[in-house]
Amino acid sequence: MHRRFANALVNNEFLVFYQPVVDLQTGEIIGCEALCRWPHGDNQFTPPDVFIPQAEASGFIVQLGEWVLKTATEQVHIWQRKFSAPILLEVNLSARQFVHYNLVRSIENILRTVQYDPASLEFEITETVAMTNADDSIGIMRQLKNLGIALALDDFGTGYSSLSHLKRFPIDKLKIDKSFVRDIPNDGNDLAIVSAIIAMAHALGLRVQAEGVETDAQAEFLRECECELAQGFLFGRPLPSDEFEMLFAQYHKGGLVFKS
Ligand code: C2E
Ligand code: CA
Ligand code: CA
Repeated sequence: MHRRFANALVNNEFLVFYQPVVDLQTGEIIGCEALCRWPHGDNQFTPPDVFIPQAEASGFIVQLGEWVLKTATEQVHIWQRKFSAPILLEVNLSARQFVHYNLVRSIENILRTVQYDPASLEFEITETVAMTNADDSIGIMRQLKNLGIALALDDFGTGYSSLSHLKRFPIDKLKIDKSFVRDIPNDGNDLAIVSAIIAMAHALGLRVQAEGVETDAQAEFLRECECELAQGFLFGRPLPSDEFEMLFAQYHKGGLVFKS
């Protein structure tokens, strides 16, 4: 499998798609999440939920992750200059990448090569990865923070979290998993969970981003709970770079806004 992945990388088969991240109060696109795609055949994609775990198991994720970071920072850097806007780039870090001995040095090298401002970069680590060996995680997180990069806990609410660890993590944001957003506003339990996560995050000084926002009613509820940011099909799917650029051109400062 490692060989197949390595060939795919050399042959430029992988792509990075960009999903808009929206400021819920202003309705503007303020950034994007980089999501890897592996096309095969006519408009068919192997889903990341299939190939990312395989890349993780074979160890190839380390190379793939470096490629995603380099590709996405190069692209977003171009947009930042073109639009004179500090577009936030969110990049996923898998378990194996997170604990790799060369992580920090490789990130530093990429940022220097691309001349990318770390203040416009955020890494996402799942709650489960962060909570496994929490003391080691804190050490790695501190090194990333020292580079000036922001950190988010991804898929929050799906793993198990120790609140005592949570308050020690040097993180900036919680991302509420889409499984809690899906049944808003019909499921009373999800309403309670989502508003409690947002209140807890704010009490800890963290920002909140909701995933999987598909309807106006969901966006409205999150806005009322003072959730800062959101992503989801309501605003835009993960898009190829040219399509993201067209959407961003319309929906940033002074342009159109997403508002119900
Ligand atoms: P994730 O980090 O939780 O990413 C969010 C997923 O939710 C993406 O799935 C996105 O397409 C999907 N999504 C966004 N908005 C909506 C919505 O409104 N409704 C629904 N139903 N889904 C929505 P995707 O792109 O299939 O990626 C799946 C997972 O694969 C990601 O979950 C992430 O864990 C992993 N992944 C993707 N790209 C990378 C990468 O470059 N590196 C690493 N380490 N993992 C990646
Ligand atoms: Ca993510
Ligand atoms: Ca998720």
